[in-house]
Amino acid sequence: MISGPSGAGKGTVIALVKQLVVHVATSVSATTRAARPGEQEGREYYFMDRGAFARGVAAGDFLEWVEYSGDLYGTLRAEVDGTLARGDDVILEIELVGARAVRKALPEATAVFIAPPSMAELSHRLRGRGTESDAAIARRLSIAQTEVAAAGEFDHMVVNDDAERAATEVAAIIEERRKGN
Ligand code: 5GP
Repeated sequence: MISGPSGAGKGTVIALVKQLVVHVATSVSATTRAARPGEQEGREYYFMDRGAFARGVAAGDFLEWVEYSGDLYGTLRAEVDGTLARGDDVILEIELVGARAVRKALPEATAVFIAPPSMAELSHRLRGRGTESDAAIARRLSIAQTEVAAAGEFDHMVVNDDAERAATEVAAIIEERRKGN
C-alpha cells in the first residue's frame, strides 16, 4: 500500500517503481469523482456514478471503500485477487482510512507512507497541478494534516523530495520484502 497526502506525488513515484521492479501491478480503483483532463476510464480509475458504486458495495465487490473529500473511492477485490493469484505483487494507492482497513483485511500487506518535503511544498504542488478548485485544494490540505500525523502507523516513510530517489527507496522496500525481511 502506498498512502500519503494528495499532492505528495504518489502516482509519479508508483509509475517509476513499476519501471524498476518486475512482477508488480497497480490496482485500478473505482471512484465517483469526475475524470480529470487526460485521465482514462480503466487506466487511472473506473469512473462510476453513486448508484453503480452503491451496487458494487452491496454486491461485496470492494475490499475497502471510503468517502474522501466528497467522493467515493474503493479498491475492487477483483483487481487485487487477479494479480495475487498470478503470484505478482499488487500496489494499492489509497488514502489513510482505506489503508487501515486493508491492514486489517490483509495483515501481510506492507504499508508505505509517501510524505511531501513540507506542507508548504504540498500546497505549492496542489496549486501547480491546476486540477482542483481552491475549495477542493483547501479540503485536501486539511485532510493532509491528519494523514501526516498518522505517518507513524506505516511500516516505512519515504519523503518525496525527488521522485526518482523516492521510487528507488520504494523499490528497495519491495525487494527486501520479497526476500522475506
Ligand atoms: P485523487 O482524487 O487525487 O485521485 O485521490 C484522492 C485520494 O483518494 C488519494 O489519497 C488517493 O490515494 C485515494 N484513493 C484512490 N483510490 C482509492 C481507493 O480505492 N481507496 C481508498 N481508500 N483511497 C483511494
